[in-house]
Amino acid sequence: MTQTTDVRPEPVAPVLVDNATVSAPLAPVVNPALTSETVGWTAMGTEADADLAVRTANRAFPGWSNLTASQRAAYLLNAAAALDPHGEERARLLVREQGKVLWEARMETHRVGDMLRYYASLADDVAAEQVSSDARGSVIVRRRPMGVVAIIVPWNAPVYLAFLAVAPALMAGNTIVVKPSELAPLTLTEILSTLAKVLPAGVVNVVPGDGAVVGATFSAHPLVRKVLFTGSTKTGQAVMRAAAGTLKNIGLELGGNDPAIVLESASITDQLINELIKGVYTGTGQICFNVKRIYVHESHYREFLDRFTAAADEIVVGPGLDPAATMGPLNNEPQFRRVEELLARAHSAGAHVATLGRKLDPATWDAGYFMLPSVVSDLPDDAELVQCEQFGPTVPVLTFRDEEEALARANDTEFGLAASLWSDDVDHAFELARRVEAGTVFVNVHRLGASDITMPFGGVKRSGIGRNHGLVAIEGCTEMQVLAHRVDHDKLPGPQVYGQ
Ligand code: NDP
Repeated sequence: MTQTTDVRPEPVAPVLVDNATVSAPLAPVVNPALTSETVGWTAMGTEADADLAVRTANRAFPGWSNLTASQRAAYLLNAAAALDPHGEERARLLVREQGKVLWEARMETHRVGDMLRYYASLADDVAAEQVSSDARGSVIVRRRPMGVVAIIVPWNAPVYLAFLAVAPALMAGNTIVVKPSELAPLTLTEILSTLAKVLPAGVVNVVPGDGAVVGATFSAHPLVRKVLFTGSTKTGQAVMRAAAGTLKNIGLELGGNDPAIVLESASITDQLINELIKGVYTGTGQICFNVKRIYVHESHYREFLDRFTAAADEIVVGPGLDPAATMGPLNNEPQFRRVEELLARAHSAGAHVATLGRKLDPATWDAGYFMLPSVVSDLPDDAELVQCEQFGPTVPVLTFRDEEEALARANDTEFGLAASLWSDDVDHAFELARRVEAGTVFVNVHRLGASDITMPFGGVKRSGIGRNHGLVAIEGCTEMQVLAHRVDHDKLPGPQVYGQ
């Protein structure tokens, strides 16, 4: 259903260019916990809107990039102060459009200010230049911003994943165009419009809409110098293909099939069980670096499976705004069907699927994309549920005999986002961790919040290109530039005089 009226009681995620709203058709954003409820409306930006946003950002680039890093930092600090008071109301809106429970939404909306403050604190690093001089002359190695950076955002953690890119891209001196997901655009667009108002006009532009229209236009646009994309591997490949036409720089944060390996040297404590429960079921399993497979040493397998299953059975599934709910619905119908079908196929292939947890309100259960948590056992390694990224509230639990075998099986995937090793012997776990093919290997932790903003984060293999978090994210939005003055002309190769 597409509407054209801009006057609505519910929030609207508009096309925002040069700090002004551009009129566009609207589509409803529904509540995943109550699909009959329209939470708000998203603009469905066109190719022309995307082009206008990029041209506007390109026009704003000289002004923004010519500020000193400290001046840009001051803008980010002002934006953080303007955003801080609204964390709670925006967390509640995020729950209604995305489905997650309130504490998870707060992890996003309450952290935006901190993310801006963290990147503002790196102003000196942004401005730093390496200067060297010797008998050959003098050289300055510096970094300069790229220009317009396009940021394409998914629906699972829309605010946090957007700001992972927004904050470093702006601090580096780039101007930005952002494409929120159609499935969760409201909170992010509200936050970005506050940011846009604090920053000079045209520095922050937002075009909600269909990825195949807006995202594809950004990815191919000649004035976009870098695309920072978070989402599925398949769409990441489409972005890469589109960006090839103009040889754009890209950063891809894609899916994962993260293994957790519980080693023989691990004690099966309540903490280990609870940490792994959070690792699997936070975000209803819809987080790129959730635990997606668990390998348990055979000496612990039975005990682990029993205790993990009992802990998962404590999960209460319901609307994210209800304090009694510990897990919300899935975000959207295709995702819901996909996970449901994966579980049905695992079951018919002979796996044991334990469906657990409690329905908070059985009477309204079918009104949303609710799914009970499950634990799947008796699966072979080549089963679909072990091989793919399920992105839902279920996990296969497998057993192994020796560490070499566990490492080989954990690495036997095209993904390589994160992984975890669980052991009482941390030094030994760190040794093994070096051999795991993943961008981050956690020890005795593997869940939301474990990768601090100061820790570079990203994937290897088909889990992505580039790194978020830390100074490295700023470096990823800049190009190295060398300024060289040579005085040793007589020592340079080649004839001293042409014709000799
Ligand atoms: P997508 O990769 O399709 O969506 C991510 C973003 O890309 C959305 O904003 C989407 O727009 C946009 N997009 C879609 N097509 C294009 C295109 N051709 N060019 C540029 N941008 C485009 O994720 P899905 O929603 O389809 O999720 C599918 C799977 O992806 C999940 O099951 C999960 O496995 C994985 N995933 C991983 C995430 C992660 O954090 N690594 C996050 C989300 C999903 P639109 O609004 O139209 O959807």
